[in-house]
Amino acid sequence: MGRPDFPATIIEFQRRFPDEQACREYLFESRWPDGIVCPRCGSGSATVLPRRLLWQCRSCRYQVSVTAGSVLHRTRTPLHLWFWAAYLVTTATPGISSTQLQRQLGLTRYETAWMMLHKLRRGMVNPERAPLTGQVEVDECYVGGHEAGLRGGRQHGAKALVVVAVEVRGTRAGRVRMRVVDDSSADTLCGFVTDCVATGATVRTDGWPAYRRLATLGYGHQPRSQRAHQLAGEDTDEILPHVHRVISNLKTWLQGTHRGVSKEHLQVYLDEYTFRFNRRRTPMAGFQTLLGLSSRIEPTTYAEITADGPRTAPQTAESTG
Ligand SMILES: [Zn+2]
Repeated sequence: MGRPDFPATIIEFQRRFPDEQACREYLFESRWPDGIVCPRCGSGSATVLPRRLLWQCRSCRYQVSVTAGSVLHRTRTPLHLWFWAAYLVTTATPGISSTQLQRQLGLTRYETAWMMLHKLRRGMVNPERAPLTGQVEVDECYVGGHEAGLRGGRQHGAKALVVVAVEVRGTRAGRVRMRVVDDSSADTLCGFVTDCVATGATVRTDGWPAYRRLATLGYGHQPRSQRAHQLAGEDTDEILPHVHRVISNLKTWLQGTHRGVSKEHLQVYLDEYTFRFNRRRTPMAGFQTLLGLSSRIEPTTYAEITADGPRTAPQTAESTG
């Protein structure tokens, strides 16, 4: 028996997860696709203690939580609501707001919807995700703030600086990575590349000198000078077409769907964009990942989330997820 797959349609979803029992069984199969083995005595026989989402070993009575390390750990919200929330978040394009989620799930409290969305967003970062390979375009952009006074150049202002890497697969974009950075120095930009791109890859950038170090870090570096292209009479947008398209779509998404995002929350939204972009052909595949069922993600505490504070019910447009 392998890991259970994900439902492909809303009808199938409804059939598969009608109640808490079905959700519990799915959690169990996701966590222990080959059956449970007691970590203490090695026994393969366990009984469920449903109320606490624990499985207890029949031999030594050791208790294992099926939700440890997932967003569901110690939740008091019914599992089937979590499953629906993850379904809605992964399949709604381009996202869903706390208000929409509250309405769809019939939640009494706005704060519950807000908390669920934020926990699910944490599931959008997979710490073990594989580095980009092959041909990769890298560029930076400014996001948010006001446009005035920051045209061109790489000086820092009210806007956040974001560096973006995009895999090039033939004529199409592959996977993306994005990070909010403090500056456009060689340490920062090349550090991003070494974190996100496998050595041996070919990295295309513009002519910014900070990228020159890439050639010494195990990459095939292809700097493309805007000036050289201008002199040759070529369209400078075509220097790095894939990363420029991703940046343009990102800005539209942040502005259109989220009505702009503050600098301190930006990375969370970049992660969500990345999550959706990298699963754009199979959005339902993200369902298990969001619930923390396919990778080991540290559970998010209330304190971590509310460092910025849950907003009370919005007066105007709310940031969506
Ligand atoms: Zn045991």
